[in-house]
Amino acid sequence: MESPLTRRAAKDLLKSKKTIAFTGAGISVESGIPDFRSAGGLWERFDPEEYAHIEAFYSNPEKVWVMLKEMFSLILKAKPNPAHIGLAELERMGLLCCIITQNVDGLHQAAGSQNVIEYHGSHRTLSCLKCSKSMAGTHLTLNDLPPRCPSCSSLLKPDVVFFGEAIPWKAQTLSIMEAKSCDLILVIGTSAVVYPAASIPFIAKQKGATVIEINMEPTPLTHQISDYLIQGPAGKILPEIVQEVKRLRESREDY
Ligand code: NAD
Ligand code: ZN
Repeated sequence: MESPLTRRAAKDLLKSKKTIAFTGAGISVESGIPDFRSAGGLWERFDPEEYAHIEAFYSNPEKVWVMLKEMFSLILKAKPNPAHIGLAELERMGLLCCIITQNVDGLHQAAGSQNVIEYHGSHRTLSCLKCSKSMAGTHLTLNDLPPRCPSCSSLLKPDVVFFGEAIPWKAQTLSIMEAKSCDLILVIGTSAVVYPAASIPFIAKQKGATVIEINMEPTPLTHQISDYLIQGPAGKILPEIVQEVKRLRESREDY
């Protein structure tokens, strides 16, 4: 049974002229990729401040690649969960314009979403730091760390944004444009503490958009800019919203 807030979200989606989603690591937890907070996940063994910082990568790539190797194997095994699938369905129904994701796992695209902005890059490809050769992560053998470029033997780095690195210009510009022009933003599975990503919901709110959060727990956005929080696992809540949208459409109930 869906909750009153799920019904409210379905009605808000149907009334909206342009909805976007902003997602974080929480949406992929049910696919087996731990967020920065999950107990027992790889981030309990690898402090993200230390291992996900660009200075650490440059000064000790062997060490950072031990963490990256684990992340690669988790991502390669992971499958989209009902939350990713629900967002892809909303896009196909013409109710979701785009997803801005902080995730690097490619699961939105695997679920069938077409319009995805990868704010922090992607783990699916790597680049050589010297000759810029690009290669797919699936082609990588990680027996000897760090992996080296097949052309020039220099260091390979996944195409993800580490702490201390700039956001790719195109992703940043597109995200700001989408945030400024939407009237509804679904903020899903993000603690909203990593900047500049966390400024996206604020930009949308400043332009008058409704902010709906879906999260296991309140975040710094909850009492500041969120219109409401639907608390619980995204993999349960998103399919409920999609069902309710379909029901409302079919029943032609007023919304
Ligand atoms: P975070 O780890 O800081 O916060 C995750 C949030 O998701 C928390 O607020 C938590 O309460 C919530 N959450 C956990 N499980 C959930 C569920 N099942 N349903 C709904 N909400 C749930 O994540 P962040 O805000 O994305 O920031 C972490 C940074 O690390 C991001 O910039 C991201 O690039 C990177 N990261 C990416 C991945 C990935 O690609 N899957 C994984 C870990 C970290
Ligand atoms: Zn090279």
